Amino acid sequence: FGRRDADYLAGLNEEQRDAVLSLEGPLLVLAGAGTGKTRVLTTRIAHILTTRKARGSEILSVTFTNKAAREMKERIAKLVGASVEGMPWLGTFHSIGARILRRHAELVDLKSDFTILDTDDQIRLIKQLLQVENIDEKRWPARQFAGMMDNWKNRGLLPKDVSPADSGFFANGKGQKLYADYQARLKTLNAADFGDLLLECIRLFRENPEVLAEYHRRFRYMLVDEYQDSNVAQYLWLRLLAQGKPAAEANICVVGDDDQSIYGWRGAEVDNILRFEKDFPGARVIKLERNYRSTANILKAASHLIAFNEGRLGKTLQTDVAEAGDPIAVTSVWDSEEEARSIGEELEQIQRRGENLNDAAILVRASFQMREFEERFITLGLNYRVIGGPRFYERKEIRDALAYLRLVAQPADDLAFERIINTPKRGLGDSTVKILFDAARHQRQPLLATVRMLLETEELKPKQRTTLRNLVAQFDDWAERLRTIPHFELAEQILDESGYTAMWQNDKSPDSPGRLENLKELVRSMEEFETLGGFLEHIALVMDRATGDDGDAVSIMTLHSAKGLEFNNVFLPGWEEGLFPHQRSLDESGRAGLEEERRLAYVGITRARKRALISVAQNRRIHGLWQSAIPSRFLDELPADAVEVKDTGSSYGGYGYGGGAASRFNKADPFDSVYETPGWKRAQAQQASRKGGGPMTIEGDLVARSVDLGGSSSAYTFGDRVLHLKFGYGTVSGVEGNKLTIDFEKAGRKRVLDSFIKRG
Ligand code: ATP
Ligand code: MG
Repeated sequence: FGRRDADYLAGLNEEQRDAVLSLEGPLLVLAGAGTGKTRVLTTRIAHILTTRKARGSEILSVTFTNKAAREMKERIAKLVGASVEGMPWLGTFHSIGARILRRHAELVDLKSDFTILDTDDQIRLIKQLLQVENIDEKRWPARQFAGMMDNWKNRGLLPKDVSPADSGFFANGKGQKLYADYQARLKTLNAADFGDLLLECIRLFRENPEVLAEYHRRFRYMLVDEYQDSNVAQYLWLRLLAQGKPAAEANICVVGDDDQSIYGWRGAEVDNILRFEKDFPGARVIKLERNYRSTANILKAASHLIAFNEGRLGKTLQTDVAEAGDPIAVTSVWDSEEEARSIGEELEQIQRRGENLNDAAILVRASFQMREFEERFITLGLNYRVIGGPRFYERKEIRDALAYLRLVAQPADDLAFERIINTPKRGLGDSTVKILFDAARHQRQPLLATVRMLLETEELKPKQRTTLRNLVAQFDDWAERLRTIPHFELAEQILDESGYTAMWQNDKSPDSPGRLENLKELVRSMEEFETLGGFLEHIALVMDRATGDDGDAVSIMTLHSAKGLEFNNVFLPGWEEGLFPHQRSLDESGRAGLEEERRLAYVGITRARKRALISVAQNRRIHGLWQSAIPSRFLDELPADAVEVKDTGSSYGGYGYGGGAASRFNKADPFDSVYETPGWKRAQAQQASRKGGGPMTIEGDLVARSVDLGGSSSAYTFGDRVLHLKFGYGTVSGVEGNKLTIDFEKAGRKRVLDSFIKRG
């Protein structure tokens, strides 16, 4: 190799070098966290390009996230400079699948500009199909079916491949037909859902050997990162692309770590990695054992913990970092609020030491944990970003729930009303909503007030009227109850009574349990405020905060989305039984579930370069109740000599800290000390400045408004001949404000709203 080549190979150890240089034939790199697997892939691409073994467009490289793809592109550009022609096909399975599909769209009955549906679109479509088939959506929820289809698609099954045993129970045997109808409907809409991006690609390859042959020729080198988390469809897709040529020409290199397989719950099959040598006879296997990321203590802790798993291939890991480094810090805190405060303090110290916040991350087990951190950081003015998902208050389920609460507090909030009128589905279709909007615009009244008006007329079909009457009655009832019960209790009741909670309970997609947890967390967070008005005010201020993503900021993300990343300081909050390991994983899949949780813990610890800080709350709200939390069993699985327990008043191993810690913090009740954030104070000040203060005025406002409505008068009088959009011609026989009684020539006597008629 020339001088330039030596540059990028120079820093590698012998095995890494071997892995980079073994370009021909199948290769599996099986190695633990931080051993340079991703680095090997990047260097390999650089090597292929600089030695001109292939052009960029002849390389296919699959990453696990789009972020990883971007980073890899940057690293390659740095390694080989801008001189090399054509960038590799570098992206996630889905993004590459989409790219291929667009090139051959017509072969899978699509046009190249097909749209990719999001989950909401998908659900809407399924609901239409259920209606056509006369399937009761209450019994057979669309979301459940979406989950089933997702599962089939992850397993590479087309409608014809779905066995009756798989689909039989749904809608009494209609599952397979629904799936087929759904796929057909997507074609007429020129659309594909996420799962199709691979599934349709597989079909394309199977049904069109000449197309597959083209890709066989094109992709001379294939590389796959995080192979342990590939699912069946991804595996089939890869195998189609890589097999069918002589084994020696199957230049496929996959890298992975069985100990980091954390997507089993989404259909990932760690077996794919075990099967590699069988699928590609003559495959080379290279192991990397030197970890370049973490200090000895961090590595020791992670290795000790993962050794408790039975189902593993077993690997050795040695640190290449000279220092033992800080021990893993385990801090016991009173509750999640104190946890956020203590991590906030640590972050400020990190800043004082001159380190960047960019080099710190908080890795949570469940997204609901994020809220407390977000609020604390906003209070502190500490920059943060949420990776791999929206900020807490921007999540769909939180926005929906807030819309209900806003409407109770402020009946004129039309945006809130729009959001919830048909969420959950109430059979109020687009045409009903349009009538409502038209009327509201004409009357210059808020939507909810307009509904009240329309209910006294026959503009809407009886069924819709009943639905709306019930909805309005519910809102009146909730507004009334707000006077007598705490707002957070009311919030819970609203979510239950509106059917919103049930909507997610019936949802069988993998993210719905997380959404339910977020809703509970929302209700919990309301307890920190004295009134609903105060709470909503706080939210408005929090949401308003600029969401600029640049600059120095601590990252908050789930453990799942932290895969492949590294940070100097890693915070691991919430190590309590039921949260981590998560109850769901224990309930559903027993030992396998527990082992996957343990791998998640391993992924978490091994993200840290210098410091890993675990925290355990002594009290956590689970299912709406404060409970003394039991420290995670994973804490007992850490080696004592690599761990330092930070809280002197408690010992996580002995479980006997409860009383001691409680007296130390001297709080009889965890609610005692929560009223101290500036946000809360701001809200309180605003409350006080409002005449009468709080929801009572708002309630008064509602009453005042409906009186006002009756008072507004109409431009029509008795005997006017008019034309109604729906009922045709008629004569006004009564006027009451803006509501008219009209004797229609065809439809008979009806009560209508004056905004829906013209002079005839
Ligand atoms: P994970 O399993 O977490 O995805 P990985 O095996 O992909 O980890 P990398 O992210 O490639 O590991 O590497 C971990 C860190 O070690 C990176 O910062 C990388 O730059 C560094 N590293 C890898 N190999 C070497 C080396 N030979 N010399 C110095 N640093 C290295
Ligand atoms: Mg990696």
